[in-house]
Amino acid sequence: MDFKLTKEQELIQKAAREFAEKSIMPIAEQIDRDNFVPQEIFDEMGELGFFGLQFPEEDGGTGAGYSCYPLVVEQIARASSGVAMTFSVHSLGTSAIYTFGTPEQKARYMPDASSGKKLSSFAFTEPATGSDPKQITTTAVQDGDYYIINGTKRFISAADLDGPIVIFAKDDETGKPTAFIVDKNCPGYSVSEPWHKIGNRGGRLLDVYLKDVRVPAANLLGPKGNGYMVLQYGIAFGKVGVSSTALGGMQAALELSIKYAKEKAHRDSTIAKFPTTQVTIAKIAEKVEAARWLTYRLGYLAESTKDLREFAKEAALTKAFVTEAAVDVSRMAVAVHGSYGLMDDYKVSMIYRDAIIGEQIEGVNDMQRMIVAGNLLS
Ligand SMILES: Cc1cc2nc3c(=O)[nH]c(=O)nc-3n(C[C@H](O)[C@H](O)[C@H](O)COP(=O)(O)OP(=O)(O)OC[C@H]3O[C@@H](n4cnc5c(N)ncnc54)[C@H](O)[C@@H]3O)c2cc1C
Repeated sequence: MDFKLTKEQELIQKAAREFAEKSIMPIAEQIDRDNFVPQEIFDEMGELGFFGLQFPEEDGGTGAGYSCYPLVVEQIARASSGVAMTFSVHSLGTSAIYTFGTPEQKARYMPDASSGKKLSSFAFTEPATGSDPKQITTTAVQDGDYYIINGTKRFISAADLDGPIVIFAKDDETGKPTAFIVDKNCPGYSVSEPWHKIGNRGGRLLDVYLKDVRVPAANLLGPKGNGYMVLQYGIAFGKVGVSSTALGGMQAALELSIKYAKEKAHRDSTIAKFPTTQVTIAKIAEKVEAARWLTYRLGYLAESTKDLREFAKEAALTKAFVTEAAVDVSRMAVAVHGSYGLMDDYKVSMIYRDAIIGEQIEGVNDMQRMIVAGNLLS
């Protein structure tokens, strides 16, 4: 057991921190206000090799490994959770293609996704459900060498940015969910205006309308009727990104709380002298540290595990703990700031709005706990 980062991991973490502080932090408020990330940010992330960190060089990646991925997402989320969310969902879609794709599919989609030229998405949720695969209503009807897909997908991240999207639809033969790789913005594919959500702003969320979208049968991802497997295990990789995004916000909340406590004057001293402030900051630090090591461990497991079912359990456990801890931490950070923490001018208010998202996405936390219990009690 070795809790030290390797030299390479330290260098990657440092590069991510410097990039986030130089290029993202100065415009983090603007990203939140405009609900938009300038393309130059993604271009720079591509140049730094961040989009392909966890994928091997033969698939266009840098070969650094999944363990490095949380280190980078954490630093980016420390500056802007909206940028981190787009990065995270890109990794979710790309990891599904990498894990379940045929050699031909990987050759077609991985190089551009790994370089960040194209940004991936993942579309399961529909107006009727985000938790139950049996209730999806999007259909895929075979027509020779093609499938015709019809339906509506709800709350899909980065659905308007060019790149591949993994779409789940019930195919006409098995009647079960099947996964397809679709090119976003192809004929028949359109999106809504972005939703106005409470946090993670900049990470754009849209509905996707699929009207007679023709997809080559060669774009079936995984076996027909086996979409549940692609969903369950694909989303497990997405939870590395969601946990890392929550962690970055928690780290920022800790730093801001320490700074504020040391600066906010009270009589001849500061609020840092109060045992209540001290206990709150210590509690924040406990949760940040626990969340950090669970998240880094999940990155390591994403790289090393041979058992996808076991990995899915660990991903569920980590995501539930870390995203819940992020809500606790951001609430305590607001408390350290008093009423100032409720104002837009103070970044902790944004971190609080961001934190509340993690518990609901990529499977609500109640469902994560059912996955963990189902595994432990089987
Ligand atoms: C910022 C953001 C980004 C997102 N990005 C994407 C994306 O890229 N792709 C995508 O497909 N979706 C995405 N979503 C959608 C999100 O993943 C779903 O909304 C989420 O999984 C919950 O689904 P739901 O809202 O339909 O809730 P429901 O499934 O309706 O659940 C509502 C409540 O019912 C309970 N519940 C539901 N089913 C059960 C059950 N079987 N047992 C016990 N309790 C249950 C839950 O605990 C929950 O509290 C995103 C959402 C947000 C906010």
